[in-house]
Amino acid sequence: MATRRGIPPRGTPFEVVRTLLEEGGMHRAELARHLQTSRPTITNTVTTLLDQGMLEPESLTGETAAGEGKAPLKEKLVLARRAGIIGAAIHQDDSTIVGLGEVDGRVISTRSLPCSSDATGPERISSALTALRELLAELPAPHPQLHGVHVAPNTLVNRYTGEVLGGATSTRWSKVNIRDEYEEGLGTAVVLENLARHAAYAQYGALEGPPPRNLLHVSLSFGVALGQVFDGRIISGAHGGAGELGHVSIDSNGPICRCSHRGCLFNYAGAENVLEESRIVTGTALSLDEAIDLALAGDDRLVSIFSRAGAAVGMALNSVCNLMDPDLILIGGRLSRAGDVVLDPLRDALFRNALPLFGRDLRIEPAATLTDQALVHASLRALRLDVDLAAAVLAAHDPATVAAS
Ligand SMILES: [Zn+2]
Repeated sequence: MATRRGIPPRGTPFEVVRTLLEEGGMHRAELARHLQTSRPTITNTVTTLLDQGMLEPESLTGETAAGEGKAPLKEKLVLARRAGIIGAAIHQDDSTIVGLGEVDGRVISTRSLPCSSDATGPERISSALTALRELLAELPAPHPQLHGVHVAPNTLVNRYTGEVLGGATSTRWSKVNIRDEYEEGLGTAVVLENLARHAAYAQYGALEGPPPRNLLHVSLSFGVALGQVFDGRIISGAHGGAGELGHVSIDSNGPICRCSHRGCLFNYAGAENVLEESRIVTGTALSLDEAIDLALAGDDRLVSIFSRAGAAVGMALNSVCNLMDPDLILIGGRLSRAGDVVLDPLRDALFRNALPLFGRDLRIEPAATLTDQALVHASLRALRLDVDLAAAVLAAHDPATVAAS
């Protein structure tokens, strides 16, 4: 429906739903200001959406039957659970976190599924699907529609086809198509984004104050991976292969890597190498946490190992900064618990030859420790970057509404 001059009307159901998806709850007056339209127009649209059970006052829960009374004018309006829900699965090294949420990103429920770091991709997906189905079954009937699920696997995956393409670096996930498994398992849209980029987006969402323009998050664990968030968008590359920092070579004469290159950063700063060097100098097979505790207690042998790992990361990041010009780099992952033992040599190596343009204002800080709730929230928010949830919500509920808007 358009005006005589062909300008679409403002304050349509689609615009109201999209605004509430992106901005969270709003009063009618805020909606009118945000959409630059009149209060009566917004009141009409909101009344229609309330009647359809698509919106509800923020104080009500999803269990409240739709259409039970109208919201007082000053109450914030949010999308009702009847408008649909979305899901998340985050495959970390030693656990999978799943969750459900409202379409605007509010988390409904989460569950943590511990697993062995040797667990295969199919095993991890199977347990995640079972847990997601259980969380769905816990919701009061009638079940709202699942509009999509965001999946963050800890492997190199083509985010559009679902193929695992890490070669010898991701054998635990070989022979499985992650997209197909989730699409068939849940019958809904699937968005794939690997764990490193999910971690970067979750850290971005947890920052306080003005957001950085170009955030890099480096995860130092058994893998070494980079995630980038530029102007609030996750940078995935053409296929979802951006950020494989661990297989960037810092020494063309270095040790051979399982990816068949020489001198990959992974072989200097990955937890496996740290543990092997720790075993050699201490004569004991330490756990990663034990090695970190010794380094934090000032054991020179361990401090030296973690320092070399940090310096190697700094050297690789110097090249990354020349290419990407970040304003904030967050260092996370399990090695980051060593704090300044890793960070100081990392900063030294990075800034030693830094060009002034990126080096002058660049901050390097430890990443925050995030709760399962925060990680699921990041997945739910990331889903809307790839899925038009406003259209999905309206189309599933009343296709005529979409056509009219
Ligand atoms: Zn490699």
